[in-house]
Formats: sequence, C-alpha cells, structure tokens
Amino acid sequence: MATYVITGAASGIGAATDQLLTSAGHTVIGVDLANTDVVADLSTPEGRSAAVAAVTEVSDGVVHGLVCCAGLGPLSHAPGGTLVAVNYFGAVEFATGLRPALERAEGASVVVISSSSTTTQPGISEHLVAACLDGDEARALELGNEATAIPAYPASKLALAWWVRREAVRAEWIGRKIRLNAVAPGMIDTPMTNGPDLDPALAKALDFYPVPLGRRGRPEEIAAVVEFLVGPGSTLLCGSVVFADGGTDALLRQQDW
Ligand code: NAD
Repeated sequence: MATYVITGAASGIGAATDQLLTSAGHTVIGVDLANTDVVADLSTPEGRSAAVAAVTEVSDGVVHGLVCCAGLGPLSHAPGGTLVAVNYFGAVEFATGLRPALERAEGASVVVISSSSTTTQPGISEHLVAACLDGDEARALELGNEATAIPAYPASKLALAWWVRREAVRAEWIGRKIRLNAVAPGMIDTPMTNGPDLDPALAKALDFYPVPLGRRGRPEEIAAVVEFLVGPGSTLLCGSVVFADGGTDALLRQQDW
C-alpha cells in the first residue's frame, strides 16, 4: 500500500480523491486550511515550507504520490493575486519541496489539477502566465491583483499545465523516477462552482458552460482519473494533460491539438 498526499483534501475533488484512495487501503495525508492531517496555508512561502516539513515528518520521508487539488475558483472573493499564489505557487513550490520524499519512493507520481478553462476561456494574460513560469511570485501576484479572480484563474491553471509539460521531462523529476501529469477538469459540481458563498448571478452563468455530456461532472469522476494517474496503471504517462470535461474541450477545439 502507498502513501499519498492530497492538498485541498477537505472539500470537493480533494475530498473525493482522499475517500477513494483511503477506501483502497492506502495511507492518505491531507493538507488544507482546516479539517485535515496537516493544516497549512499554501498561499504563502512560509505556509508551503511548514506544510512540506509537516508532511515529511508524518510520512517518515517517503511519499509515493502527491495530488495538488488546493485551489481558489474564478468566482471566489479572494484577490486575483491570492488565487495565483494558491493555484500556481501553492502547487509548484509544495511539489518541489516534497521532491526528496517523492524520490525516496523510487517511482512516484505527482498530479496537479489544471482546468479546461485553459483552452476555453479567451484572452488569458501571457504576462501573468510568464511571470508564474519564471518563478517571479511578486510580479505574478501583482498581475493577478490587477486582473481580478475571473481572468487570473485560467492564467494560473495554464501556467500549471505548462509547468508540468516543461518540468516532467527534466532530470530533476523523471530522472528521479517522479512522473508529473495534470488533469484538466471541466465544470465539476463542488463548492467551488455550487457553494453558498458564490454570487448567485455569476454562479447561474456557469450553467451556460457547454458540456456535450449534458451535465456537470462529479468530484468522484475526477478522483477516478487521479487514482489512475497516481497509480501503477499509468506508468507510461509523463507530462500529459488529461482533459476530463464531458467533451467541452473537444467541442470547442475540434481541430486544434
Ligand atoms: P473546493 O473549493 O471544493 O476545494 C478546494 C480546496 O482548496 C478547499 O478545501 C480549500 O480549503 C482548499 N484551499 C483553498 N485555499 C487554500 C490555501 N491557501 N491553502 C490550503 N488549502 C487551500 O474546489 P474543487 O472544485 O474541489 O477544486 C479542486 C481543484 O480542482 C482546484 O484546484 C480547482 O481549481 C480545480 N478545478 C475545479 C473545477 C470545478 O469545476 N470544480 C474545474 C477545474 C478545476
């Protein structure tokens, strides 16, 4: 049985993944702002370092898989900069900090949660994506704050997907037998898209998101994809971005690959 770490484990996709992996007999270490094994704020460098230290201790320094689910949605009331800090730097810095523990597993897997908004939402800020990929957190937060949450969201998730593509093939990761992959979910029914804190008018607008399948996804359906990607059945996947969106990406980009 494996030891898996899940950020954002207290809610939505993270909680569903925690439940799936735990019921399969694995040890799951959850990281979130509250109600998890490790309580940490991944929006700050200090919070990320504290989370890495705590997880390393609880796992005895060996982690077979990491799932980065913690995130703020486009309809959150947080400033765009905070959203970028959690969604991009909270995943990338935390994964990098855990690399020694992942390497010790000798065949680990990291899955980050990107988004289908990366290919469906127009006008994504190239400057914000570039600042993320350059590791310039101060500049990225500044641009995120100027942009506000709705445009900052797809930029943070595009940067995350491109980070996976760039880093997955580098010696620091695959050379240490650590696979990096991403899932790009479409509209999933969780508190992020259907919670009580959302502006009702904006939340209603999400109903117009085109989903050929005819309904929103369920968190359990993303958890099933994540279980595959962190597990032994996906050992050939390295640097892949898997869309799990009921057909939205195929509908909107039929000849674009
Ligand atoms: P959710 O709101 O149910 O869960 C997000 C979790 O992240 C929460 O438990 C929250 O406490 C945690 N979190 C937020 N800020 C944090 C911080 N500073 N430090 C630590 N934890 C923090 O949302 P969800 O829908 O389950 O989203 C999970 C992931 O999937 C997110 O990254 C989200 O962007 C992504 N995603 C969701 C959808 C969707 O339609 N729901 C679509 C595409 C991608």
